[in-house]
Amino acid sequence: MPEAPKETDQNLVAENNKKKLEFIEDITSNPDHIQQQVLSEILSRNAHVEYLNRHGLNAHTDRETFKKTIPVISYEDILSDINRIALGDTSPILCSHPISEFLTSSGTSAGERKMMPTIEEELERRSLLYSLLMPVMSQFVPGLDKGKGMYFLFIKSETKTPGGLPARPVLTSFYKSSHFKERPYDPYTNYTSPNEAILCPDSYQSMYSQILCGLCLRTDVLRVGAVFASGFIRAIHFLEKHWSLLCHDIRTGTLNPLITDEEVREAVMRILEPDPENAEFVKSECRKGSWQGIITRLWPNTKYVDVIVTGTMSQYIPTLDYYSDGLPLVCTMYASSECYFGVNLNPLCSPSDVSYTLIPTMAYFEFLPLHANNDNKLVDLVNVKQGQDYELVVTTYAGLYRYRVGDVLRVAGFKNKAPQFNFICRKNVVLSIDSDKTDEVELQAAVRAAVSHLKPFGASLTEYTSYADTSGIPGHYVLYWELSQNSTIPIPPSVFEDCCLTMEESLSSVYRQNRAYEAIGPLEIRIVEGGTFDKLMDYAISLGASINQYKTPRCVKFAPIVDLLNSRLASSFFSPKCPKYGAV
Ligand code: AMP
Repeated sequence: MPEAPKETDQNLVAENNKKKLEFIEDITSNPDHIQQQVLSEILSRNAHVEYLNRHGLNAHTDRETFKKTIPVISYEDILSDINRIALGDTSPILCSHPISEFLTSSGTSAGERKMMPTIEEELERRSLLYSLLMPVMSQFVPGLDKGKGMYFLFIKSETKTPGGLPARPVLTSFYKSSHFKERPYDPYTNYTSPNEAILCPDSYQSMYSQILCGLCLRTDVLRVGAVFASGFIRAIHFLEKHWSLLCHDIRTGTLNPLITDEEVREAVMRILEPDPENAEFVKSECRKGSWQGIITRLWPNTKYVDVIVTGTMSQYIPTLDYYSDGLPLVCTMYASSECYFGVNLNPLCSPSDVSYTLIPTMAYFEFLPLHANNDNKLVDLVNVKQGQDYELVVTTYAGLYRYRVGDVLRVAGFKNKAPQFNFICRKNVVLSIDSDKTDEVELQAAVRAAVSHLKPFGASLTEYTSYADTSGIPGHYVLYWELSQNSTIPIPPSVFEDCCLTMEESLSSVYRQNRAYEAIGPLEIRIVEGGTFDKLMDYAISLGASINQYKTPRCVKFAPIVDLLNSRLASSFFSPKCPKYGAV
């Protein structure tokens, strides 16, 4: 655990904040020069890697030759290289530095997680980006070094590739690294959750002990959060289910016997002591009928909620507003397994205005204007135009060259000479509840697999659409199906339940893992009356859609359309069990 703060730390904090803010000023004043240096450094140290030679770069390190020679690619283009590395080939295929592990992205390829090779030193770049967040925040909310952050952080299961490299999500890799575990004392990484609780692989024990410590240290808490909004809401829901047990532990100073991990028990017992008054207070708040404002009631000194609510996570804003009684929702950073990208320099702005400033030292960034697919048209960081949408393309120190990340960004403004981007969406993704990102093709394949159960009944699917229902916790996928049937054989409910399960088993491994962790609820099929999708088309046309070009949307979000579908509901069915989930 970090040591206790010392008197002189105050000055050190102020000094460090100043340095970090100066760093941001510097790099945003001169981004093009830095980008050129970054590219040249990446290309010179990797001058002899197989991939660059294969494309004929011939050890050139300048931008022009790089752009002329190296293609813009997607994951599938380097899959065979990645497979070789995973199988144990240690020759410099993509990168001259040894590959230290694979980061399993929530983006999928053929239903499986993408595996991003990474190198040891990338941990330093990630740490650098993290180190900018609190100096930025402290300009807007002073005094955050005087208390604690209650962050619900978790690791996920990991595997090893046949060649023996770990394969795990980027945050699991970071929390397990010495950069996190052995961090020196810093008032800004002073969390209520002990490292042992964060690093506990059992999700119940990890969650229970993190909430328990957060409740014990209630009045020290100045900020609360998780990585994504869905994770934070899951923690509040857990509290809703288990507060009585938690209050018992606080009252008696004894720990729930279901917490069996010895290291976690020891760490929690260093914080937990009998506190009947605190237990009584928590109980009285939790047993009130309404959970509105539960965050500010239980953690009264909280200044803001730190969670990502940009992109699909914006669907959780109303729930967070309800629990926090309108505390600021702060999105601090934008990152991925491929690379950490940028920070929000105006963290107290409204979620709809959040923009991220890409940090030009992290990687070499290029931008593909939306609707153009000619790679000559890629523009550099400093040449993007205000108001335009682009797909982000990165060249990283770990050996990705001109790699399409799949995110669509819009230029919102500039910090000095560095552009700031709104996150618009992930390309093609239609449904997302947690870290799952289901695209139209995956959805279509899952629907196709499921409808085969209807054949024996002479029934077929005439139309379908989908909806990410986040009104309950956890949220779940809803499929609206309109059927036609040329026989009178009744279709038993169990057949529709089989359809639900088949769909789930066809969805990506990220979806299935989230189901196993209960981050997503059972998939639901809602059968709607005949003619519903015609009504949907009529409605879209009344709003100005062209009759010729109308296509059934494969996902709906607009409340009046969801209401229309729900008003014509004939029956509804849920997946009866968790889909099979094997590897990472
Ligand atoms: P992963 O590769 O699983 O780490 O997921 C990275 C992806 O998560 C990014 O490419 C984005 O699509 C999404 N993401 C990360 N940070 C943000 C953010 N601040 N706002 C919206 N989406 C984000």
